[in-house]
Amino acid sequence: MEKLQQLYEGKAKKVYATEDPELLIVSYKDDATAFNGVKRGTIQGKGVINNRMSNRLMQRLEQAGIPTHYVRELSERDTLVKKVEIVPLEVIVRNLSAGSFSKRYGVEEGIRFAEPTVEFSYKNDALGDPLINTDSVLALGLATRADLDQIRRYALEVNRELSAFWKSCGVTLVDFKLEFGRLPDGSIVLADEISPDTCRLWDSDTGEKLDKDRFRRDLGGVEDAYQEVMRRLEAHDKN
Ligand code: C5P
Repeated sequence: MEKLQQLYEGKAKKVYATEDPELLIVSYKDDATAFNGVKRGTIQGKGVINNRMSNRLMQRLEQAGIPTHYVRELSERDTLVKKVEIVPLEVIVRNLSAGSFSKRYGVEEGIRFAEPTVEFSYKNDALGDPLINTDSVLALGLATRADLDQIRRYALEVNRELSAFWKSCGVTLVDFKLEFGRLPDGSIVLADEISPDTCRLWDSDTGEKLDKDRFRRDLGGVEDAYQEVMRRLEAHDKN
């Protein structure tokens, strides 16, 4: 499958048309941004890791019965995906306090919740992706109630699957962001990526951060952290 015209260039990926109107090619870049594009940089080799990792995790989720946009890995940076209409929501699932949750509610990072939380943000760069509740999603017509129920169910299923998977790799899944899309038949599927760019991953023993917070917070060792989580995932898959 060949890349045709570039349809979109985002912060971390480019999207190309293909000869099949129902399929797109996503190409992962090494560019990194944080704080709504205010902080910019490059994480050497990130695109290759995020592409492979996201594809492995999407395949795992498909096996667990969660539909995704994933079709086939084409090369180290390129993946064939189903074309979807993205639901303009960032769906954030949290198992432990961290990041904007800790900041918003004034609590330390690392408190494990009795139940995971699901939050929605309105995907809108100009507004800085504001937090949104379900009534406002309905008021703005961003999704239907049925879509939201389905998205919430899938998000919690993804959390169950990935928390267990990362635990077996010696990694705590602290929180993550998902995006969903609609196929032409109206059904909802998991889209975008699942990677250290979109998940907080902490070493289960030491609590060391193995994700994009190393870039956001200038902690150093960014490339090493991405490589380490990929190494653990591959070691797990080999066994
Ligand atoms: O910053 P915050 O604590 O809300 O982030 C929660 C989770 O969502 C983190 O894992 C972060 O990497 C992810 N996230 C993301 N893209 C955003 C915002 C958050 O991948 N635009």
